[in-house]
Amino acid sequence: MIIIKNGTLLDPASNRSGMYDILIDEDRIARIGACGSLDDMAAECVSMKLMENPAAGEELSEIDASGCIVAPGLVDCHVHFRDPGFTYKEDIETGARAAAKGGFTTVVMMGNTEPHMDNVATIKDVLERGSKTGIRVLTCGNVTKGMDGKELVDMDALMEAGAVLFTDDGKPVTDSEIMEKACIEAAKRNMIISLHEENPELITNNGINAGEVSEKLGITGSPREAEISMVKRDIEIAEKTGAEIVVQHISTSEAVDLIREARARGVKVHAEATPHHFTLTQDAVLKYGSLAKMNPPLRLESDRQAIIAGLQDGTIEMIATDHAPHSREEKQKELTQAPSGITGLETSLSLGIRELVNTGFLTMGDLIDRMSAGPARVYGLDAGRITEGGYADLVIFNSGEEWSFVQSVSKSSNTPFLGQRLPGKIYNTICRGKVVYFHG
Ligand SMILES: [Zn+2]
Repeated sequence: MIIIKNGTLLDPASNRSGMYDILIDEDRIARIGACGSLDDMAAECVSMKLMENPAAGEELSEIDASGCIVAPGLVDCHVHFRDPGFTYKEDIETGARAAAKGGFTTVVMMGNTEPHMDNVATIKDVLERGSKTGIRVLTCGNVTKGMDGKELVDMDALMEAGAVLFTDDGKPVTDSEIMEKACIEAAKRNMIISLHEENPELITNNGINAGEVSEKLGITGSPREAEISMVKRDIEIAEKTGAEIVVQHISTSEAVDLIREARARGVKVHAEATPHHFTLTQDAVLKYGSLAKMNPPLRLESDRQAIIAGLQDGTIEMIATDHAPHSREEKQKELTQAPSGITGLETSLSLGIRELVNTGFLTMGDLIDRMSAGPARVYGLDAGRITEGGYADLVIFNSGEEWSFVQSVSKSSNTPFLGQRLPGKIYNTICRGKVVYFHG
């Protein structure tokens, strides 16, 4: 058993915050009580267990969470673990390790793997391997076979195999007819389609915003219209079909506005924002080169502010890292040739604290909501809350204490934040009652 003492519990899902102790038995939260009130109960439980089964050698371990926040284990519904197919960048085990270090206990993998997540065997394989990592590794299923945007997958089969959402992330579903068909089929099954919204027809060089910076670099870049037009189309399709959709990694103020308006008239559209889109602008490309190249690209300060406003008023319900590992060799290619994306699991909470909470835009409770309860709510996952009898998925961190991000536990370290000192030191990540990460 584990007793977590003297921490400040912060659980947006139940609206509970304050000083509490938490007693964990096996994989569940046995009791939440006032500080010091659970000691006798914990000792009694342990001695009873010992009497029942002395060979098991039950012990009570204590975690002192003084000065720390105890929050629900974080949930990230958008990670690329590159497994199978590209395991030189990341694999399920190293990805899960990076997630645990960043406070995450539940992640959903994207399906631009090789083979793709368009078939039962691959989904079963990654879930089987994910179940051995200590955290909850879930997966999407693709929308179309081979992510080629032409033929729908067998949704029932992929759902039965365990897919929790459908997406062709990395690519939009460009054909409107296919998109509409996918929405109708997903709606019948109460499943969400999560969308990478960039119209490739409008893009010559992806990953860099078309504008001042791309001009300075002498490249064409990716125009904001590429996102806006797709978001507009897919809101229309969602409205027409009654389907529920998620706009992934939103990057433009116009798209935030479109989603806010659509939600107000009852369209079932959700959005996620990445830490890099609420932290950086296109100027970062001049400083960090390919480490600031991502799809969709970093855009203007006014876009960054609109994304923060969206997170503030709940238009954007989820923070998702879009953790996208690439090898050093790949990222060292010239800007137009280097692949898009950065890693994000180890720095997401810290960037949220630095850019959203310490600046006064979000309360800590709202940040934790967007990083745990929010995504759990949208996708209907059993995660993102701290309740008696519920799973013991927790993160314990000191929001005021800084740490140095000197080494990544991911296989890749393609992030502009490497080497920085960041607020929000994580001491423990606990998943299903087991400590999956700790820092002394
Ligand atoms: Zn994407």
